[in-house]
Amino acid sequence: MRDNTTTISAQEVMAQRGLARQIAARPDAPKSYHLTTFGCQMNSHDSETIAGILRDMGMKAEQDQEHADLILFNTCCIRDNAERRAMGHIIFTKEIKKKRPQTLVGVMGCMVQQGGAAGKLRDKHRHVDFTCGPGEIYRLPERIMHALEGRREAAFARGEDSTLYEGMPVMRKSPFMAYVTVMYGCDNFCSYCVVPSVRGRERSRQLSDIVAEAKGLVNDGVKEIMLLGQNVNSFGTDGAGPRFPTLLRALHEETGIQRLRFMTSNPKDLSDELIAEMARNPAVCPHLHLPAQSGSDRMLSAMNRRYTRERYDERVRALRQAMPHIGLTTDLIVAYPGETEADFDETLDLVRRTRYDSAFTFIFSPRTGTVAAELPGRVSPAIARDRITRLIKAQEDITREVFESLIGTAAQVLVEGPAKRGRGQVTGKTGRNIGVNFEGEESLTGQIIPVLITGQGSNTLKGERINT
Ligand code: SF4
Repeated sequence: MRDNTTTISAQEVMAQRGLARQIAARPDAPKSYHLTTFGCQMNSHDSETIAGILRDMGMKAEQDQEHADLILFNTCCIRDNAERRAMGHIIFTKEIKKKRPQTLVGVMGCMVQQGGAAGKLRDKHRHVDFTCGPGEIYRLPERIMHALEGRREAAFARGEDSTLYEGMPVMRKSPFMAYVTVMYGCDNFCSYCVVPSVRGRERSRQLSDIVAEAKGLVNDGVKEIMLLGQNVNSFGTDGAGPRFPTLLRALHEETGIQRLRFMTSNPKDLSDELIAEMARNPAVCPHLHLPAQSGSDRMLSAMNRRYTRERYDERVRALRQAMPHIGLTTDLIVAYPGETEADFDETLDLVRRTRYDSAFTFIFSPRTGTVAAELPGRVSPAIARDRITRLIKAQEDITREVFESLIGTAAQVLVEGPAKRGRGQVTGKTGRNIGVNFEGEESLTGQIIPVLITGQGSNTLKGERINT
């Protein structure tokens, strides 16, 4: 483990949990909460921990924000529109507090960890009662206590970003699918990204803690675990501990989990050893999210991604050689500063050659404090919109072709529940992470069912249950 990581002791975690119980006993303690989550899976999982802590405090989830005693926002600042959306919601709570002044408002997540953001919320948005950064979620009881006691300075202290802690309560959304964080933070400093400055440097959990958590989940009936980290491929490289392939093997051999997924993977750290483990480990799903960001070497270098297009293509070939039926998905940024039409053509070419199952596409969004925010050569909004439209269209065509090629094949589908449309239909995900709707009873929820793929919709496949 690196020197600057602060491992929070079990006593300290227990002290916070004790504080949670003390708060529950106070007559002025909030009894209900409303939590809004913005952003990625890391934030969704953080929100499960936040909900677990609030349950320790005796609070119940309230669907209607206006009736909640505590209103919480777990924010994201990865893109400008996510931050603006969160700010809009936070500002609106001022109206709620006019009607119910005793309501507490707390802001959590990456947004509060940006330099000066907590202070700005404290001074400019007086209706906000406290902040709590993503590296110090375990301190939520303390922050709520400070807010109840009116200790404003302490309630808005800037969060820690180098902690590693175990033993917090988690209130999971699904009884059969679970997130497990394997590492926090990122060391990569891609030029456009705020993550290293808001979530800190890489800190890997102990393999034994992760395996113990997974064992508990399997005992509780969990069928699929999604391992989370900003760059899971570098798990363990912040110390002398075992690396990611060893973790995957241990999870399969020691827990009996049926399905393992993981994200996110930086292509530069996708090793031969990891590919070999993915191919031989029966629990690892045949799907990989491998963010390319651009198909142009010039842009990849400007983004400080530290791989070339040639290396990315070679990793894709290695993956497909080891797992011919693997499905790939990706993230792509268009209109990065200095991106020319020729650079963009390289990205279109990457999409057409790699044939992703799907892609998350974004227009470059400058984030304060990043290298990219200061770069010249901004692409005009009109050109950016034109490029993203063309990119989305190219990917949609490929998705349709990929789906078409799957018709007539069999898939194992983990059923998530009734389909939104179509009575008597259930929906679930294949190992490749593609949604499938098929006729079936709601009681199949949580089971892995063999399905024959018979057709396609716009974003999902259609299937028929195979009787075994
Ligand atoms: S790998 Fe790059 S894009 Fe991903 S979190 Fe780290 S710095 Fe951000």
